[in-house]
Amino acid sequence: MGVIRDSDREFDYSVPVAVVGAGACGLTAALAARDAGAEVLVLERDRRPWGSTSMSLGAMCAAASAEHRRHGIEDSAERFVADVMAKTGGRADPLLARVVGERSGPTVDWLTARHDVPLLLDFKWTGLGHSVPRLHIPPGRSGEELLALLGRAADRAGAQVMTEARVGGLYADAEGRVRGLRIQRPDGSREELGVGALVLATCGFGGNHAMVARYIPEMANARYFGHEGNKGDGILWGEALGGALADMTAYQGLGTLADPQQVIVAHPLMIEGGFLVNVEGRRFTHELENISGMCVPVLAQPHGLAWVVFDGQRHAACLEHSVEHRQLTEVGAVRQADDWATLERLCALPAGSLARENADIDAARAAGRPDRLGRRFDGLQPLSPPYCALRVTGALFHTQGGLVVDAEAAVLRPDGRRLPNLYAGGGAARSISGPAVTGYLPGAGICMAITLGRLAGDAAGRLVSRHATVTA
Ligand SMILES: Cc1cc2nc3c(=O)[nH]c(=O)nc-3n(C[C@H](O)[C@H](O)[C@H](O)COP(=O)(O)OP(=O)(O)OC[C@H]3O[C@@H](n4cnc5c(N)ncnc54)[C@H](O)[C@@H]3O)c2cc1C
Repeated sequence: MGVIRDSDREFDYSVPVAVVGAGACGLTAALAARDAGAEVLVLERDRRPWGSTSMSLGAMCAAASAEHRRHGIEDSAERFVADVMAKTGGRADPLLARVVGERSGPTVDWLTARHDVPLLLDFKWTGLGHSVPRLHIPPGRSGEELLALLGRAADRAGAQVMTEARVGGLYADAEGRVRGLRIQRPDGSREELGVGALVLATCGFGGNHAMVARYIPEMANARYFGHEGNKGDGILWGEALGGALADMTAYQGLGTLADPQQVIVAHPLMIEGGFLVNVEGRRFTHELENISGMCVPVLAQPHGLAWVVFDGQRHAACLEHSVEHRQLTEVGAVRQADDWATLERLCALPAGSLARENADIDAARAAGRPDRLGRRFDGLQPLSPPYCALRVTGALFHTQGGLVVDAEAAVLRPDGRRLPNLYAGGGAARSISGPAVTGYLPGAGICMAITLGRLAGDAAGRLVSRHATVTA
């Protein structure tokens, strides 16, 4: 139903703060609203909250956290903003980058200390645009664990989560104030609910083919590997209410989705010295230049396929820290051989191709110069037998454009004025990636969900508490 303008409709039931979507953003918003003293109801379309959050590696970037101080690492909001601007060629919103730079670290600290959602600094993903280690990850190193921790914390804090409750549309007055929403149940029944403030935590539009074709036409025919419930609902409602959209062309699309297993291949394999070849056995890209946009060069290769090539040592290290790598190993996706010729045969690659590419890399390393694709392997151990390979393809993972928000995650109109009671975070809001596929910093997806989720829930909670005080 989209957004219906209706200033007179009466609702039998009302909640002070409603949150649509029970991913990282929605559950964090619920925690913050409870901390601000508000009753909150989270509405989730699925029977069990899952979202892109559970599909993720659960790692969020954050600047200047208590974890940084514990490890003696100097970080600051200024440094974070400088990294965002460098990664996006100066095209991210500097104000939003600043807000995230200032608020992400304290938000990690708040989750850890107040809500028992421990997020530990991770050293596996260094560089790639972050000038200091910034990824914070739960102890079990998975998005599923992150969502479970947030869900338990929301429960403890007294937030209500209603599942199998798809929000089908909103009721709003002429000024764009959200008055209520319609919930659709799997049996076809409908319920209507009044709201004091609304947080949109419905993620992006990767699961909405028409929106992808409109805003990101180069990915219109690519596989989508995010949560299928990410239909862009919140973005469409916010826009219909008069909210501004920005950076709708930005997205993250990894080039290392195991084929055909559909499991993400752990990036440390490449960060620590592995490389990519196409099915003709040729390297075709600097593997670390733009990890988040690697789907573009991979999908441009014959059959849209490539092989990640690494060795037994990296394989063993990855087995220790990556759930996904263990899964891939268990299902026999990792090909392994004692020499290049055998691995080439196992992967149906031209004879001599892997040995040649590896020798090129070794020569560049020995000469202390970049290889022909501009990558430096200095300081990384050469690959040694046994050699390993995993077949991969590229996919659209999640979109980065969305509703424009301010420092309290309130949705803004194109002229910069706030909508009265609408907040957005995570994939529903514009990110800090600028307008292109090259601007995504590792961990920015969960960072925007959790950091903006807290800001949104806190502001929504304070708004309704203020209103309750004024009307009491
Ligand atoms: C495979 C994969 C790996 C990733 N790895 C990382 C990573 O390691 N680090 C990182 O920072 N980012 C990563 N990302 C991105 C990250 O997962 C997302 O940016 C983040 O989870 C977004 O959180 P969210 O709460 O906005 O959305 P979600 O977690 O997707 O939650 C949105 C929820 O809203 C619900 N919903 C949608 N519409 C409605 C409706 N109308 N009514 C009711 N409910 C609705 C959905 O069902 C869903 O549960 C990854 C993404 C993918 C797909």
